[in-house]
Amino acid sequence: MMSYFLSRQIVNSDFVHEVMKRSGQNILSCYQCGKCSAGCPMRYQMDLQPNQIMRLVQLGMMDAAFNSNSIWMCISCETCTTRCPREMEPARVMDTLRSMSYARESARQLSPGQWFRELGSRLGQALLGAFNMEVKDNVRTFNSVFLENVRRQGRSFEMSLIGGSNTSTGYLVRNILKAPIMLLKGKMEFIPERVARMKKIEKIFEKVEESENTKI
Ligand code: SF4
Ligand code: SF4
Repeated sequence: MMSYFLSRQIVNSDFVHEVMKRSGQNILSCYQCGKCSAGCPMRYQMDLQPNQIMRLVQLGMMDAAFNSNSIWMCISCETCTTRCPREMEPARVMDTLRSMSYARESARQLSPGQWFRELGSRLGQALLGAFNMEVKDNVRTFNSVFLENVRRQGRSFEMSLIGGSNTSTGYLVRNILKAPIMLLKGKMEFIPERVARMKKIEKIFEKVEESENTKI
């Protein structure tokens, strides 16, 4: 079981208010019954259970919440939401934390030294076949590749989704043998099909970026 120490330096009350505002949930009313976690189908993959994430938010422990893989393992199935006796929506809290974490990463200004260290670490991960890459980094990377796909085509293009996520995560040949079968069965295309009204798709992205104050 993980242990945390509370101190003035760690507790961030602005974080509590920000999560409550963005998610529309009165997180302080969570009484830690654990029903959300008991029903969560992904809890076996999470380092912290959904109710523990709620607790971290209540306590303003921003870094611990963002460093948990749970927010990236959550599949937004909303089982937790249907089970909560306080009529709260932990699924929305998870979603809010993902979005805040994403914005925080995007806004991170790296010094030249940090930039080279980051590059070195990513190259190392790629060379090692990402054996040491954390699950949450994989999920985050997959999310970015997927969103980039949708932004370009208006829909997912599997070929580029597989290629992009494999090269970004370092698993270069993952699922590669499935590609010919999928191509033969017509489940995958060689050439991407774009939706007709790409301007509308771009507007959706712009609106989200504006409301989240970040670049997707
Ligand atoms: S079910 Fe609701 S009240 Fe119970 S721990 Fe989860 S969020 Fe809190
Ligand atoms: S929405 Fe996320 S946290 Fe809630 S039950 Fe589903 S996977 Fe678990």
